[in-house]
Amino acid sequence: MRVLVTGGAGFIGSAVVRHLVLVRGYEVLTVDKLTYAGTLTSLRAVDNHPNHRFLKADICDRQAITEAYDSFRPDRVMHLAAESHVDRSITGARDFVETNVIGTFTMLEAARHYWTGLSAEDKAAFRFLHVSTDEVYGSLGAQGLFTEETPYDPSSPYSASKASSDHLAKAWQRTYGLPVVVSNCSNNYGPYHFPEKLIPLMILNALEGKPLPVYGTGANIRDWLYVEDHARALDLIAERGRPGETYNVGGRNERRNLDVVQRICALMDKYHPAGGPHDRLITYVADRPGHDARYAIDATKLETELGWKAEETFDSGIDKTVEWYLANDWWWAPLRKGYDGSRLGLLKPEEVKA
Ligand code: NAD
Repeated sequence: MRVLVTGGAGFIGSAVVRHLVLVRGYEVLTVDKLTYAGTLTSLRAVDNHPNHRFLKADICDRQAITEAYDSFRPDRVMHLAAESHVDRSITGARDFVETNVIGTFTMLEAARHYWTGLSAEDKAAFRFLHVSTDEVYGSLGAQGLFTEETPYDPSSPYSASKASSDHLAKAWQRTYGLPVVVSNCSNNYGPYHFPEKLIPLMILNALEGKPLPVYGTGANIRDWLYVEDHARALDLIAERGRPGETYNVGGRNERRNLDVVQRICALMDKYHPAGGPHDRLITYVADRPGHDARYAIDATKLETELGWKAEETFDSGIDKTVEWYLANDWWWAPLRKGYDGSRLGLLKPEEVKA
């Protein structure tokens, strides 16, 4: 089994690559541009593994992507490369439109040309998994869950660009018959998460005795999914998902942001008592513009049709995550030098780039 994984040097992509190479024994070609969010250190576990190859390329570069398809000849594509941070999309949306929309278009077009030349048997077996987010569905009130039928209603430039890419992926299946499957997942957390995102930022700021910035009142709710549970789900969806279908992936772990931060503080008090109690560092800051109130996923289709179930609860997953960051400064310290955790995504006029 040969799988081409885009964005494999990022957070979720590297978990997928580790799972495919080390657990499944597949041959993997990772294609990644190595933006600020991608680092080869996240792939250290498969460094020099005979079944893993790495190609530094931009998914918008049609020639490089066509050559990757033609030389690697994948049985499957798992497309995760994206600009992924909502706050960055607020002050600089262009990269999001280029990578998430044009990049996905380029991946789909190159796939279509490659797939057209396959034998009837290989054509039927080929899968293109487009990995997306529950943020395309917009915001929930206090009740209800996102299902695969929830209408799209994105709020941020990030989620709007992902929604666009989902529509392209679905259209390439309906119009050209390319066997595309789409997955939409909730907020991931776990090892190798770039320290601009809520959970790693809070762990590292707490470790360094810095303020723990909570947006607004901290009442926004997210449905947390442990990254290795997600990697298993994506493998299953790529293997058994039906072309043209969407599968929602969620951990059934809804938490208010403030409760997440308080849980991290309690774990820091346990594993790193120096500098505690850490909840004294919690600081309320201006809310994110267009901040969605609540996301929650109904993962029934994935659970009943494909038999997936999250193995981690939020309590077990966050415990593992805090312990991982405390033990792996070799991974995060160089990234923390490049990005010190300062606030992103506030709408000052001079920050809004075209
Ligand atoms: P990430 O930001 O950690 O990693 C993205 C990777 O894509 C990086 O390695 C980066 O170098 C690469 N990349 C960016 N632009 C590229 C380009 N033009 N060409 C090639 N490579 C490029 O993101 P992540 O959190 O691992 O997310 C992976 C996917 O899952 C994304 O599509 C994202 O929208 C989706 N997703 C993420 C979450 C989450 O909680 N992290 C939730 C839902 C959906």
